[in-house]
Amino acid sequence: MTNENGSTDRETAQDDERGEIATDGAGSATDSEFDPVEVFPETEEMDLRPGADDCYKCSTCDTACPVAEVDDEFPGPKFQGPEQWRLKRQDDHDIDESVMKCSNCMRCDGACPSSVPLSQMHNTARGEYVEENMSKLSREYLRNRMLANYRRLAPLAATFPRTSNFVMGLAPVRWLGEKVLGVTSEREFPDFATETFREWWRKRGGAKVESDEKRIAYFHGCYANYNTPEVAKALVRVYEQFGYEVMVPEQRCSGTPMFANGMLADARRAAETNVSELAAAIEDGADVVASCSSCSMSIRQEYPELFDLEGVEDVAANTWDAVEYLQVHEDLLGELEGTSVEAFDDFAYHAPCHARNQGLAGQTLEVLAPIDGVEVEDVGDSCSGISGTYGWKEENYETSMKIGAEMFEHMESAEAESGLTECPTCSMQMGHGTGYEITHTLEVLEAALVGDR
Ligand code: SF4
Ligand code: SF4
Repeated sequence: MTNENGSTDRETAQDDERGEIATDGAGSATDSEFDPVEVFPETEEMDLRPGADDCYKCSTCDTACPVAEVDDEFPGPKFQGPEQWRLKRQDDHDIDESVMKCSNCMRCDGACPSSVPLSQMHNTARGEYVEENMSKLSREYLRNRMLANYRRLAPLAATFPRTSNFVMGLAPVRWLGEKVLGVTSEREFPDFATETFREWWRKRGGAKVESDEKRIAYFHGCYANYNTPEVAKALVRVYEQFGYEVMVPEQRCSGTPMFANGMLADARRAAETNVSELAAAIEDGADVVASCSSCSMSIRQEYPELFDLEGVEDVAANTWDAVEYLQVHEDLLGELEGTSVEAFDDFAYHAPCHARNQGLAGQTLEVLAPIDGVEVEDVGDSCSGISGTYGWKEENYETSMKIGAEMFEHMESAEAESGLTECPTCSMQMGHGTGYEITHTLEVLEAALVGDR
């Protein structure tokens, strides 16, 4: 209620209380006399109100959203974030189902001039929508749960990799996957490696370099372990070349596909293991490095935003992208000067959205420039469109390909017939849209710095 001075009763009561404190005794407040004013009621739920109130509705985030650009029905990040948050403060508002159309590319985070925590709002809203509004028996829920928990299915497929690759490549199996589960049949499933990275690591006998001063804990994630161990091996060899002791701690999925599918309880369980294992490695003197941009993004940003786990801030602060870490801690450019590679030709390079979000958009171009025999051409700042599990869903496939169209076009007009990126699913999309072989930056660094395997 507003009083005759134009203040609300609550404001007047607070002013009176502050006045009492200020003029009490000697005329100044003391710690023992301070009685904090509870402006907002206590809540167990995450409070993103300050972020929502920072939004001044400029719509810059909407113009940066690749989904909104090609899908007129998607209301965009401003609605998914601050507007929905304001509505949600009214008790009877349900989260709008359109939040499931957000691909979690996180481009809107970097676009907002007011630092509104958009992706945090989207992740929280998506989690609430799945928990409260999505039937746990629906095809969508079961499909999303399966896609989000790739880490649980991969060990089974990796036990019989050749059989798995053969069966999953059969057209009738892909057709069934679409009809029964809603996983698009347009894409080919990625092959499982005949030997996982962790199997290779065990057979190898672990680290070849020991060092108390230079030590890293490698978060390889699921894809480099089960599908592209050559990327993980390249990281090990490059870091050992620089004299690092490489640790490979126990780990679970980074949680990226779980966030994108609103499976926050699954993501939290994975984060509990990862934070505890990585915190122990940091205690042992290691810094954490990841070869996948989405894994480093998840540990650095999403974990501390969403989970109040012991050590989570420390783990986030000590986690790096693998190439970024060498750029900062070593004379990487100096070491690469005068090197050359024969194993690779020129590349069309796509910087993943999650690398951009970490300020790493130009890193690969800079790092590979001194190497002879390889020209790297940037294909621009468009999104690849696949965004992890998003482009694997039948209903998103077309949107995903529309988003990727600009990247495909730029790749095909570049003076290269191979692609380069640091994100596993961007890599799938690049290969799918152009037919090119796709390489990881670490493999090129390995070829230049270490030579043949
Ligand atoms: S995370 Fe990406 S898809 Fe989702 S609202 Fe933001 S920009 Fe759009
Ligand atoms: S860019 Fe930021 S301030 Fe502008 S509408 Fe989006 S959330 Fe609001």
